[in-house]
Amino acid sequence: MPTIARSLLFLLLAAAPAPKNEGPPPAFFETLRAADLRMATIAYRLTTANAALCDRLQPQLGMPIHALTQYGPATRTAAATAFGFESTVGVEAVVPGAPADKAGVRANDSIVAINGTEQPGLPTADAAEGAGARDAAEAVIATAPVGKPVRLTVLRGGQRLPITVQPVTGCRSRFEILLGSGLDATADGAIVQIGERFFEGYTDAEIAVVVSHELAHNILRHRERLDAAKINRGLLAELGRNGRLIRETEDQADLLGIYLLANAGYDPMSAPKFWRQKGGTIDGGLFRSRTHASSKARAEVLEAAAREIAATPTRPIIPPVVATRDVPLR
Ligand SMILES: [Zn+2]
Repeated sequence: MPTIARSLLFLLLAAAPAPKNEGPPPAFFETLRAADLRMATIAYRLTTANAALCDRLQPQLGMPIHALTQYGPATRTAAATAFGFESTVGVEAVVPGAPADKAGVRANDSIVAINGTEQPGLPTADAAEGAGARDAAEAVIATAPVGKPVRLTVLRGGQRLPITVQPVTGCRSRFEILLGSGLDATADGAIVQIGERFFEGYTDAEIAVVVSHELAHNILRHRERLDAAKINRGLLAELGRNGRLIRETEDQADLLGIYLLANAGYDPMSAPKFWRQKGGTIDGGLFRSRTHASSKARAEVLEAAAREIAATPTRPIIPPVVATRDVPLR
């Protein structure tokens, strides 16, 4: 994966680029933070409300983290100021009402230890750009035992503070906004990536439709199962058995996606509505036309399912498709 050159200017601000040789203005970072918080909030809701549908779980804290080393040399100094980095890994934002928030974690806290695993101090000026430090910190959280408190040590204004977070158990998946990408979305089994353009003209409910579709791929282990079936996702993806099995996984992700939405308290009808209203723009970008059902056909199938879900009062609903996650694709 092309990991997140955070030195790229976020498209939202492309109309007002920073002067040459200066870092981006503070508004750039706040735009980035706001988008990452929207993504984290949607992800928190979907993963925690659907824990019963997942066999791979992790503690969910509701705090997107980032690393100063994710910002390139041209933006690093400005990023350090905007995000208050006192060490390499920091809390970018806190989902309101989520465990980190309840425990008193704040945006711009710098993380020096997670469950006793030390996190790096401030990087040297010439430290290479990359997401390694962020990924390592996320891995410590993802592999921590579920149902147990997560012990953080943070730096805030020079003070070391111990904070114990009582996490909520959720599906195991990482989430990331893909910068410098259009209306793109992918799920490789471990991470859901959503193109930054969704965070421009799309509502949270619409973004949740896309995120739930991608999370459904991860819950159903589609990438793993397609690989096991030796399916070609490249140029031959639309042909014969490749096309049939990819189409099958897409239809399943559509269907499971609306259950994920409904279980998380989103209107399940938002999915068919989204495909009807926005599907036309997204077909061919996010969804290759021949391996995905056309957006109209998609909307009709999903509408019927959404009506059924709306008539079912219990939550979470665990649809039968979840049981197929261990069945080889053939
Ligand atoms: Zn898909």
